[in-house]
Amino acid sequence: MGNNSKANSENRRRFLKTTGFNSLKAFIGLSLLPDFGYKLDPSKMPRRILGRTNMSVSLLGFGAAHNKDKTVYPRAIELGINTFRVAGPDSPIGFISYEALLPFREKIHLAFTSLNVSNATHSFYLEDLDNFLKQSKMKYVDIWYIAVPDPDVLIEFSEAVNIARKAGKILWSGISTHNVKRDSVRLLSPDSPIDVVMMTYNYLSPKCDSDFLNQFHQAGLGIMPMKPLAGNFLKKPVDRPDPLIRWLAADERIHTITVMMNSIEQLEQNVSALQLPFSEEDQKLLQNLYSYNSSRFCRMCGTCEGRCPNGLNVADLVRISMYREGYHDEKLARFNLSLIPERNRQIICDKCDQCVINCPNGVAIQKQIGLIKDWLS
Ligand code: SF4
Ligand code: SF4
Repeated sequence: MGNNSKANSENRRRFLKTTGFNSLKAFIGLSLLPDFGYKLDPSKMPRRILGRTNMSVSLLGFGAAHNKDKTVYPRAIELGINTFRVAGPDSPIGFISYEALLPFREKIHLAFTSLNVSNATHSFYLEDLDNFLKQSKMKYVDIWYIAVPDPDVLIEFSEAVNIARKAGKILWSGISTHNVKRDSVRLLSPDSPIDVVMMTYNYLSPKCDSDFLNQFHQAGLGIMPMKPLAGNFLKKPVDRPDPLIRWLAADERIHTITVMMNSIEQLEQNVSALQLPFSEEDQKLLQNLYSYNSSRFCRMCGTCEGRCPNGLNVADLVRISMYREGYHDEKLARFNLSLIPERNRQIICDKCDQCVINCPNGVAIQKQIGLIKDWLS
């Protein structure tokens, strides 16, 4: 993602490691630390109200990542980020150090994510939440998420939400969805206990996703775009995500853009990206990127569901290909592959002369799924 020299990054990491970030902060102040030359003004980190939760959240949020550098968290808070999405220590979706966040608990909004587990009951989810609170030593979470739940599991999770809320363990609840069309019915129902939605949304999204966004916005839901970097398949003419982040920031329906960040350099790039408005130049860069990214990024529109004559879970496999080719996250790719029933994940696209599925969004299905086979062989 970065376009700065590796030497700079290495120097800074070594410097922080050997001196200790907190002691540095106390004695010489962060402004004296070596920097990457970005214009960083914490007062310019916009805040937005997260729908009916009324929480004032930073426009850039911090997503769980496989990140071992704990100095990145205090730096993120110093730069105005107040929203952190975490998962359990063994979670394949990434981890944020609880220990590093604990001293800042009262300054931040914490979103904890439970994973979808088939046939799980509400007791299972309450136990998952209790384990998190115990391990993290946090007294409560601001938003309790469930990741891409099956409809039955969403019902169980909703029951768990009502119990946890009464017990003061959570303030609000959220869902991340890979099937917005199906889940919108539940999310928009008047008795829905879900307050925040994470849905796939970025500059590649089709109009129907913008229409869902309108409905969620009008219903008072908090909105966090998922896959904001469109799979992170960045290529020339840009090799950093600024125009993508600014495109989302220009949309007032978006409340907080949660990005996985693995280093201070990535953090500072993303913060600096938000200190400029979306421009005509950005628009041109996105237009130039469009075809390269569009053929690789699944919009999760559901059109291909059940269409493969060989029974493949096409959208899931294209997404898994993205985790490896775009995110470079093999752990996440393998975890998601393990969730697909064995009979639906044989990678046999090379046996077809041509894919019979015509993706309305222009995804090169056969090619993208074929990459998984290359990777596994
Ligand atoms: S591969 Fe294409 S048709 Fe299938 S869900 Fe993704 S965007 Fe839709
Ligand atoms: S290439 Fe063949 S096996 Fe692969 S998704 Fe298309 S139809 Fe199915």
